[in-house]
Amino acid sequence: MSLLAIVGRPNVGKSTLFNRLIGTRQAIVDETAGVTRDRHYGKCEWCGHEFSVVDTGGYTSGTDDIFESEIRKQVKLAIDEADVVLFLTEVGTGITDFDEHIAEMLRRCTKPVVTVVNKVDTPDKGADAYQFYALGLGDIWTISSANGSGTGDLLDHIVELMPGDTTINEESYTAPHIPRIAIVGKPNVGKSSMTNALLGEDRNIVTPIAGTTRDTLESHYNKFGHEFILVDTAGLRKKAKVTEDLEFYSVMRAVKAIESSDVCILMIDAQSGIGAQDMAIFNLIVRNKKGCVVVINKWDTIQKESNTMARWRESIKAKLAPFNDLPIVFTSVLNMQRILDVLDAAAKVYENYSKRIPTSQLNEVMLAEIEAWRPPCIKGKTVKIKFVTQLPSASPSFAFFCNLPQYINDSYKRFLENKLRSHFDFTGCPIQIYMRQK
Ligand code: GDP
Ligand code: GDP
Repeated sequence: MSLLAIVGRPNVGKSTLFNRLIGTRQAIVDETAGVTRDRHYGKCEWCGHEFSVVDTGGYTSGTDDIFESEIRKQVKLAIDEADVVLFLTEVGTGITDFDEHIAEMLRRCTKPVVTVVNKVDTPDKGADAYQFYALGLGDIWTISSANGSGTGDLLDHIVELMPGDTTINEESYTAPHIPRIAIVGKPNVGKSSMTNALLGEDRNIVTPIAGTTRDTLESHYNKFGHEFILVDTAGLRKKAKVTEDLEFYSVMRAVKAIESSDVCILMIDAQSGIGAQDMAIFNLIVRNKKGCVVVINKWDTIQKESNTMARWRESIKAKLAPFNDLPIVFTSVLNMQRILDVLDAAAKVYENYSKRIPTSQLNEVMLAEIEAWRPPCIKGKTVKIKFVTQLPSASPSFAFFCNLPQYINDSYKRFLENKLRSHFDFTGCPIQIYMRQK
């Protein structure tokens, strides 16, 4: 997945533009899935193309008086991490010193930079935008994030600049392959320790991933009956030391690791339990429709009674609801405890993730369930589901064909999902349910 980063000084309209690019569709999808929407990271869909967007400014607290040094850090990170950098300015103020400083950094950047002048709400303001050519960054694009004008042309241009293939392909089913596994989590939970425990001396860096994730490493693991590609960002920590505290940085890193994997191992520190940052990463996994294994690490530090693990399990599931049909493994990397259980769980999740349910079996089972518990009548209309099929997408997705798809509510979709989960093992996999017109 290609990544667009929006940079610029405060108040030029970065978050307004971000929201427009992400659109309302995703907000709705996230809401119905019970996922808290990340205000600064999302996916932009445009004419059959899709890419990720981060609003770098969103990750700074106290937006009113951000230090310029903070913004410079963000610009630097955006240059390092993104595939295309969108530099946002605004027509009303003209070029400020701050804009100059950002432009100076961007002029040295080898990645594509798109310079955009915002708040061109009416055509007459377009003339004022010409002064921005003085930034020395080539062509400028004029838009109004508020009313949307100019954003279509801008998106066409961005899609052209993206190095990777951005085409949305619902039929993106890839034949079973060696599973790609990413270990993710906030700093200090034990990701590097886990990676080292797994790879040990056999660490064998096969290839840097092409294109977007050029500095993510892949290691081929083949031991104890498990074969997979470990998508590794932990080895890159040294370079990042200075900026590691930035939430923006961890998010960028997590996004890349998650997007290039099939199954994510979400590591959580038992000492601190599940907090906001862990939830944010979990939501990235769900939003990217990836398989997930939850690992509670540093289990050695927890005082245990007879049912401690069961109580933890319950409380974690309650926090992760509604998507909590997940394996949870309690580990101590320090004591090499249950490390292989993590691999077993990840392998099982991948099996579920790549599973195809034959259409005949799916219909037999699900139509019987639907018959036993029909969709509620709405406005006196009877909703009939006639056929169900698994879509050829990478993650488990099902289309239910019916006469009035718009009348199927979320609670009925949840019913369908639960039934799918109870008949066919999809533990660790988010499930997408689509209602389609027959
Ligand atoms: P950020 O700090 O760069 O994220 O900027 P915001 O998105 O918070 O926007 C700053 C202010 O500019 C807000 O009051 C927005 O409503 C306003 N704004 C954003 N885009 C436009 C636009 O296209 N036209 C006008 N007139 N105002 C805008
Ligand atoms: P990362 O930032 O997620 O890669 O975390 P590290 O692997 O660097 O680990 C952070 C710290 O936690 C290090 O001091 C590790 O030694 C320690 N640590 C990792 N796993 C465990 C564990 O299972 N138990 C305990 N007690 N400490 C651990």
